[in-house]
Amino acid sequence: MTGTELDNIARAVTSGKISGDGGFTKRCHEFFKTKFGFKASLLTTSCTDALEMGALLMKLEPGDEVICPSFTFSSSANAFVLRGAKIVFADSLPSHPNVDVSKLESLITKRTKAIVVVHYAGVAVDMDPVITLAKKHNLFIIEDAAQAIDSYYKGKPLGGFGEFSAFSFHETKNIQAGEGGLFVSNDDRFSKRAEIIREKGTNRSAFFRGEVDKYGWVDLGSSFLPSDIIAAFLWSQLENLDVIQNKRKQIWNRYYENLKSLEKEGKVQLPFLPSYATNNAHCFYMVCPTQEVRAGLIAHVRSKGYQLVFHYQSLHKSPFYADKHDGRELVQSDRYTDCLVRLPLYFELSDTQIDEITGSILEYFKN
Ligand SMILES: *Cc1c(COP(=O)(O)O)cnc(C)c1O
Repeated sequence: MTGTELDNIARAVTSGKISGDGGFTKRCHEFFKTKFGFKASLLTTSCTDALEMGALLMKLEPGDEVICPSFTFSSSANAFVLRGAKIVFADSLPSHPNVDVSKLESLITKRTKAIVVVHYAGVAVDMDPVITLAKKHNLFIIEDAAQAIDSYYKGKPLGGFGEFSAFSFHETKNIQAGEGGLFVSNDDRFSKRAEIIREKGTNRSAFFRGEVDKYGWVDLGSSFLPSDIIAAFLWSQLENLDVIQNKRKQIWNRYYENLKSLEKEGKVQLPFLPSYATNNAHCFYMVCPTQEVRAGLIAHVRSKGYQLVFHYQSLHKSPFYADKHDGRELVQSDRYTDCLVRLPLYFELSDTQIDEITGSILEYFKN
């Protein structure tokens, strides 16, 4: 929290207009346009909703295939399954939970419509080869940039590469509004229809701009826009983006400095940053050699009063999708499922707490 959230919410409430697309929403939209240069930015109630907007815009049909990493959140795949698509799961890199781009082409068939990339921990997927592939096979790129606010690939902001991109402002992300999200389109062909899909299939946005003299039901859609109360909260966070990011990077760097000896000694794998990517300090994780070592580590650190948590369970083995998966082994995804652990990382975390956490981790690996 930055401290100005309640004031901004009060301003939204006293303005008398708290439904979607009010003053704070407009401010947020303008911010994303000027700061990151996205062509169309539309606040949504979640990243999940923004992904579902992308799936609608693509006009997916039952039987179409979408390539998606297995080591990700359900929404990255679910948005497309809702439209009848079949998910072809891709494995992660050995060096990083991000998708192994070199293996993507072998997954493309005549039915493939799109590639979903997820920038894990806010670290960029290697986008150049993905773009080349998408051009060659005429595929959409969707960036699940839920964790990737203010992070860059070769100097260009993440979220700026896909035809569609989705950010999350869930309270577990760098910039949050409790629940919230952002839909981004970088292709002018889709910006008008995106507005319609977000407004229950109506052309209400064009009506409010005076472009049509009445509005009605013109397409498929849903109610994807958040109340201006949410946008007011979000605006407090956006105004303090640099303060928040700098603090998170400080925390991240302290973790790294305190723990880097463990990687040198071959005891754990620490976050890897490719030269083309920046670090937005979304998450600090370690990969243990085995599931047993991870369980022991979590128990040891818990005894000192701190909670380490693991992350995704491979989607290709999930109760919902296991019997629909084509049977390929995805060994890296399973390794991150079993062995990856995340350390606490939030704005209010103090140096003393960080040192206690890393002290306890070092103690565990010494024994
Ligand atoms: C958090 C997250 C989501 C979901 O975000 P919501 O805003 O809660 O819908 C989707 N994908 C990834 C990779 C996430 O980290």
